[in-house]
Amino acid sequence: MIIPFLNFEPIHNKIKTEIVDSFSDFYDSYWYVLGENLKQFEKNYAIHNQIKYCVGVSNGLDALILSLRALGIKEGDEVLVPSNTYIATVLAITNVGATPIFVEPDILTQNIDPQLIEAKITKKTKAIMPVHLFGQSCQMEHIMNIAKNYKLKVVEDNAQSHLSLHKGRQTGTWGDINATSFYPGKNLGALGDGGAITTNDSVLANKVLILRNYGSAKKYENEIIGYNNRLDEIQAAFLNVKLQYLNEWTLQRQQIASWYIQKLKHCDAITLPSIISDTTHSFHLFVIRYEKRETLQKYLQDNGISTLIHYPIPPHLQKAYLNLGYKKGDFPIAEILANTNLSLPLWPGMTEEQVTFVCNKIVECINNQ
Ligand SMILES: *Cc1c(COP(=O)(O)O)cnc(C)c1O
Repeated sequence: MIIPFLNFEPIHNKIKTEIVDSFSDFYDSYWYVLGENLKQFEKNYAIHNQIKYCVGVSNGLDALILSLRALGIKEGDEVLVPSNTYIATVLAITNVGATPIFVEPDILTQNIDPQLIEAKITKKTKAIMPVHLFGQSCQMEHIMNIAKNYKLKVVEDNAQSHLSLHKGRQTGTWGDINATSFYPGKNLGALGDGGAITTNDSVLANKVLILRNYGSAKKYENEIIGYNNRLDEIQAAFLNVKLQYLNEWTLQRQQIASWYIQKLKHCDAITLPSIISDTTHSFHLFVIRYEKRETLQKYLQDNGISTLIHYPIPPHLQKAYLNLGYKKGDFPIAEILANTNLSLPLWPGMTEEQVTFVCNKIVECINNQ
């Protein structure tokens, strides 16, 4: 049996006719940028998230950058961010000239540890950027309380957790302004790059609307220095189709994860994803931890099973961030996670038989150690 890491076939096959029809309508509209498809998607996504405003942008990184710009975060400001996040969260901070201040994650949830946030707050701190890593919500209520006490802004990085809940409320709706990505492999993925910003604040929504379009509200009049960061009409048209299936696909991800958990729970050598109380996990990724990860990854590969590592090098040890002056050992939890995490195959439409095959091979490998 060959098990890829990700397989679009089951879902893309099912919606092919709808996608082709949406392309055909788009093509015949003769309107290709900032049109009805985008307006409709922004409306639909806001409703789906139960939030007032959604602004479609070019990708997740741009969504993060524009969110920080809208808050006025700039050089000299400090932004708190988990030490184990995907690099894009950190890139957004440094792209607006601000300084990332790393906060270690909780080793079980792999999300920012709220207990460690206050110790990192200084006079320069302007914002906290929680990242709902792998699809599990951060402890948003706790984080929002800290932000309120210290008058900090909150920008959620919701790129991996469309539809996750914390205390019944969706991720990407708690912060002052929030960013998400529709990169094809994300839980809601375009057929190319895409992203969005969500907020309940009309002033911030307006600001990003202007920022994404050259800093201009009225054609050929520029109020601020902006970007060309619009979400393409064609991607908005595809996303309108795919959004209708997001609930169903999320349930499938959760079903697959529960198969994995059930079949691996007796395997003491590996650490399974933990789902904290009051929280749902949308399983963008199913990440286990194992001390001899390389051995396991090779064994699985030899048996036709592809896995990935999210992420092998934490941001503070990336060459791009040598200037921050960190060294090995500075963020031990992030480093342990980078050295032991292994992401197993998971996609909507993956069968129980395929999950069983992966689990059998994992148990086989571990028993041979
Ligand atoms: C994918 C991702 C991003 C960046 O999104 P792009 O659309 O690829 O630019 C940002 N943050 C996290 C946590 C991500 O997983």
